[in-house]
Amino acid sequence: MLLTARYVLPIAAPHIEHGAVLVHGDSIVEIGEADRLKQLHPDEPVTDFGLAALMPGFIDAHTHLEYTAMRGLVDDVPYSRWKLQLLQKERLFSEQDWEDSAQLGALEALQSGITTIADITASGASFRAAVMSGLRGVVYREVATMEKPKVAEVMRRATEDVESWRSATGAERIVAGIAPHAPYSCHPELFRAVAGFAADGTPVAMHLAGSREEYQFVKYGSSMLATDVRDTFDSHAPLWLPTGVSPVRYVLQWDILDAPNVLAVHCTQIDDADIEVLASRDVAVAHCPRCNAKLGMGTAPLAKLFAAGVRVGLGTDSPAASNSMDEFEEMRIGLLVQRALLGEERFVPARQFVKMATLDSARALGIEDRVGSLEPGKQADIIAVDLSESHQVPTHYPYSTLVHTANQENVLWTMVAGEVLYQRHSWSRLDPQRLYSRAEELRMKLRG
Ligand SMILES: [Zn+2]
Repeated sequence: MLLTARYVLPIAAPHIEHGAVLVHGDSIVEIGEADRLKQLHPDEPVTDFGLAALMPGFIDAHTHLEYTAMRGLVDDVPYSRWKLQLLQKERLFSEQDWEDSAQLGALEALQSGITTIADITASGASFRAAVMSGLRGVVYREVATMEKPKVAEVMRRATEDVESWRSATGAERIVAGIAPHAPYSCHPELFRAVAGFAADGTPVAMHLAGSREEYQFVKYGSSMLATDVRDTFDSHAPLWLPTGVSPVRYVLQWDILDAPNVLAVHCTQIDDADIEVLASRDVAVAHCPRCNAKLGMGTAPLAKLFAAGVRVGLGTDSPAASNSMDEFEEMRIGLLVQRALLGEERFVPARQFVKMATLDSARALGIEDRVGSLEPGKQADIIAVDLSESHQVPTHYPYSTLVHTANQENVLWTMVAGEVLYQRHSWSRLDPQRLYSRAEELRMKLRG
């Protein structure tokens, strides 16, 4: 199958005008100028997208598919109040609600050109929705407890899930990992247990240094996370004593950053010494600019992370946080925030954010040998993004057009491993009508 478009963006190489990508089975075979590839492969069926960009699918470096039905539910409040209210609302969900909420997320991911998710899930619903919808993913089983006597049982249940995901039928596109939730919800022994379990290279993700409230909780034992959140949900938890150090240096003591494949999510509250810690242990960062801005969490110091050689991917953190799983918005807001902060001296180009949403996210997850760019031998995870609408023409430079004018509704086609999973309001494996009506039911339930 030969895919052609005005622009082909391999990401690892300069873009090609009037380009083509040759796909056989689940893999990319060749990339080049459309005329040349058509001559070389005259019998190959051609799909032309016209004034569009063919590019690797987005890799959402941090999300929670199962929270999708909580979109817009807790809005206009800062992080710690948002977290508290979300924890209260979660109690209303049944098992089936989590499943349908996660499928709703998979529906949106595919429509948004996301082909790989790095998803933290407590219920496992995100894993099942990813398998069912055909998404590729690194799916991390969440663990959390502040109570030491519960650590062994929490780990037992989590490792059972991870093992069952690894052997599940149809889950070839999923890598299973484990996720200690955050410094304010995990006992140090839980961090140690996860570090031991993940010493073999099992992927680890954790929310880390995400908000000022978390920083104040860890360092000074204060903030709403030390009062309301613990009073409501962790009343049996032991006393928390101020540690006097940053969240990064706090978790460092409990071995978790020594696991070989760690993704730290957010990292908005980190200083130069923290960056040194992350860089020296090759910990990757998932940057979620829209969630961080919307919930007043701050912003990750990208220029310093890049200078230190830290791998940084781009994440949406689910519609419960940022209202849509739209990597175009993440690229746009991420870029604008950096330009506003850094000025002319360290001006970030649009192309860098397109790379962050694709190849750099793949590197952050350690899956860049398979996905993240269009290269012969890599998996055919390919999207076509329309650039022909009234808000986009004339198009001069595809990277800045993608970042500044495109949105999730401009995605024409989403392919994972050579399988077309989405084409203009049509999903091959999901039933949108059922999920939209379930979304409405869940809306009424959550308001109760
Ligand atoms: Zn998150």
